[in-house]
Amino acid sequence: MKVQLMPTSFNPDGTASQRQHLSCLIIDDRVAVDAGSLAMAATDRHRSELRDIVLTHAHLDHIAGLPLFIDDLFATLESPIRIHALKSVIDVLERDVFNWSVFPRFSELNNGRTAAMEYRPVDIGEDFSIGDLTFQMFEANHGVPSAGLVINNGNSTIAVTGDTGDLEGLENVLLDEPSMNAVFIECAFPDELSAIAENSHHMTPSKLASELGRVSTECPIYIFNIKANYRDQVVCQLEALAVPQLEVAEIGAVYSF
Ligand SMILES: [Zn+2]
Repeated sequence: MKVQLMPTSFNPDGTASQRQHLSCLIIDDRVAVDAGSLAMAATDRHRSELRDIVLTHAHLDHIAGLPLFIDDLFATLESPIRIHALKSVIDVLERDVFNWSVFPRFSELNNGRTAAMEYRPVDIGEDFSIGDLTFQMFEANHGVPSAGLVINNGNSTIAVTGDTGDLEGLENVLLDEPSMNAVFIECAFPDELSAIAENSHHMTPSKLASELGRVSTECPIYIFNIKANYRDQVVCQLEALAVPQLEVAEIGAVYSF
C-alpha cells in the first residue's frame, strides 16, 4: 500500500514546504483520505483516476480542497466523485459548503454524462470497499462527529487517527488487529499549548507519550497533522520522547507498506 501525505504550502522558491496547513493523505494514487489540499496538490494522474474521497470529519483543513477538486474536474468527469463519510459529516457539507452560497451544490449537478458527486454515508464500525482497499471507521475524540480509519489492501493494514484528543479508538482497533503495518497519529500542538489542545480535542507530544501507554504496537508510528506554526517545537518535543518506532511523516514522501 502506498501512502502519501500531500503538500499544502510552499517554500520561498516555490517548492513544497514541510509546513502542514491542510490534511490530505492519498492511498495507492486512487483514494484520498481527507481533501484539505487535494485540489492544490493532486497530480495529473490523481485528476484523471482519483474518484473516491474518504472524509474523517468536516473541519475546514480537511475539506478545503474538496469543492475546488470537483470544480476543476466537473466538465470532464465520466463518473461521479464519491464522498465516503459519516452521515453527520455529509449533512454539514450540504448545509454549510455545497449550499449554493459558499459553492454550488454539486450533488444536484450533472455534466451531461454523469452526476458530479455522490455521497456514500458510512457508520462507525462498518466495512466498505473502494477497489481492492477495505476501510473501516472508528470513533475519534474531536468534539465534532469524527472518525479514524483502518485501511487494508489484502496484504497490509494501516490505521489513521484523523484529528483526535486521545487514542482510545486506536487502542480498540489494535485489540482487534494487532498486526498493523503502520499507524498515522495526529499531534497538532506543542506542550506549551496543552490547554488549547485539550479544548480543541487535539494531541501534544506529552499527551501522545501518555496515550501511547494504552497502545501496544511495535509497528512504525508516523506523526502528522502538526499545526504549521508550531512544527519545529512539536518535532523537537517528539524527538525528546525517544520512542524508537516513532517518526514525523515527511510531507510529499511516498511510504510503502
Ligand atoms: Zn479537526
